[in-house]
Amino acid sequence: MNKYVLFIFVLFIFYFSFCLTIEAHTRSREEYEKSGHVIWEVDTKEKIVAITFDDGPHPIFTPQILDILAKYNAKATFFVAGNKVRRFPTILERITKEGHEIANHTYHHIYDKNITASTLRTELEQTDEIIQRITGNKPTLYRPVGGLHNDLIINTAVKSDKLVILWSWHQDPQDWRKPTANQISKYITKGVRPGNIILLHDWIGSEFSQTSQTVKGLEIIMEFLYKNSYEVVTVSELILHSKIIDQDYFNISPSE
Ligand SMILES: [Zn+2]
Repeated sequence: MNKYVLFIFVLFIFYFSFCLTIEAHTRSREEYEKSGHVIWEVDTKEKIVAITFDDGPHPIFTPQILDILAKYNAKATFFVAGNKVRRFPTILERITKEGHEIANHTYHHIYDKNITASTLRTELEQTDEIIQRITGNKPTLYRPVGGLHNDLIINTAVKSDKLVILWSWHQDPQDWRKPTANQISKYITKGVRPGNIILLHDWIGSEFSQTSQTVKGLEIIMEFLYKNSYEVVTVSELILHSKIIDQDYFNISPSE
C-alpha cells in the first residue's frame, strides 16, 4: 500500500514538472509570429514606424518627451508600469489627452522569466484597472518586462485579452545604460525601416533624475524621421496598416 502511494506521488511530481516545462517552453520567433499573438515589427511598405517608451510615466522626462512629440505631430505608445501610474496619474492623463497610446507593462515590473501565471495575471489586471480608472480605456497591448517571453507568459497574456508587443531587435539602443544622445539617435536612424517598432525608455534613473540622454536623442531622431518623410504612429495604428493581423482585432478601421 505504501509503495502504491509513493508511486502515485512520484507520478504526480513527474506530471507536474512536465506541465511546468511545457508552459515555460519558448518557441521560435516564426512560430509566435504565425500565432498572431506576438509582434516584433510589422510588414509594410508605408514609411511609418512606432516609437515606444517603457517603464514610465516619469515626472520630468515624460512631459519633455510629450513636448517633442507634439512639435512633430507624432503619436507614440507608452508601456507604463502600474506602480508609476499610481504615483503620477496626471501625467498619464496628459499622455492620453494628447492622443498617444497607453499599454500595459505590468504593475511592479517584475523581471522574471519564471513568473507564475497567477502573478502575471494579477500584475496585468492591477495595471489595467488603474489605467482604466484614469483614462476610461483598458489597454489591448502588453509588453513583457525585459521582453522575456515563453508559452506561459504569452498564454497568460492572451487569456487576459492582450496582444504581446516586443520590438524590432535592431531598434533597441539600450538607452537605460545611458549612452550619449548621439549614440542613441545614430543607433535608431542608421537602421530604421518601414514598420519598425523602436524601443526607448521614459523612465531613466530615478524620479529625481534631471537630465535624460533619451530626451535629447529623441529630438535628433524626430528631426531625422521628419526629414525622411517617416510618420510616427501608435503601435495599434501601425498594426492596422500591416497585413499580419486581422483588422477585426481592434474593431476599428484604419484612418486611411
Ligand atoms: Zn521595462
